[in-house]
Amino acid sequence: MIFDTHCHLNFEVFNNQEESVISRARKAGINYFLIPGSDLPTSQKALNLAKKNQNVFASAGIHPHHAQDQVDIKKLESLIKMLKVCAVGEIGLDYHQYPKTKHENYQINSQFKEDQKILFIKQIKLAQKYQKSIIFHNREAKEDLLTILKIYWNEGLKNRTVLHCCEPDEELLAFAKKNHIFIGVDGDVTCWNKKARFIKKVPLEMLVLETDSPYLTPEPIKKEKSFPNEPKNLILVARFIANLKNVPLETLVSQTTVNAQKIFNL
Ligand SMILES: [Zn+2]
Ligand SMILES: [Zn+2]
Repeated sequence: MIFDTHCHLNFEVFNNQEESVISRARKAGINYFLIPGSDLPTSQKALNLAKKNQNVFASAGIHPHHAQDQVDIKKLESLIKMLKVCAVGEIGLDYHQYPKTKHENYQINSQFKEDQKILFIKQIKLAQKYQKSIIFHNREAKEDLLTILKIYWNEGLKNRTVLHCCEPDEELLAFAKKNHIFIGVDGDVTCWNKKARFIKKVPLEMLVLETDSPYLTPEPIKKEKSFPNEPKNLILVARFIANLKNVPLETLVSQTTVNAQKIFNL
């Protein structure tokens, strides 16, 4: 019973193939899925997929990439309220300068960083208002992320949040430990030594598995077919981490699934 806590089955690349992707995953032992939203249409689609499929759950949120878009916060709020939406996400900060994005003139400048922070804080408050869990996205923005979390953190978020695709960073891990935040790990652990060394140190009680499909295809299949990754490949990540941490696969799977159920209050 493996839980893929972060798979974008709502992205275009999976259009009209969602059910077959889910059924292939089930055959490989992946039985639970959390589909995160990154803007309004993908949040709505995540919700639709969650309504149609058993053990598929949704989150609604605006990814920091979209911080300069016109966001209809009322509409977002109406999605967050829905029963099948168990979390707000993915939300956070991303200061990485991507070579190519859907947005023309994508520039990480001070205005964009400011917009990201404002949107992030608004969404933390919505999660608190509706007692939803939170999926944090952070890339190269640790300082600002921690500053905001320290201000807006409350006890209600304890055990209810995850730092998805967590950067290998001691300070993030220490903050997560202190505040009962879970650490999400993906396929990049199979091909990045620094990440593997980091994950080895994360207590099993804090860890959840994710594919970040369609991205981050794990080894050994990355070389042959890197895109799109799908949830069925999560078994490769699970095996790699069990081996890395020297625990039976069964133990890793059951603990990470229990952790995920705790985060999303399932
Ligand atoms: Zn992300
Ligand atoms: Zn994501």
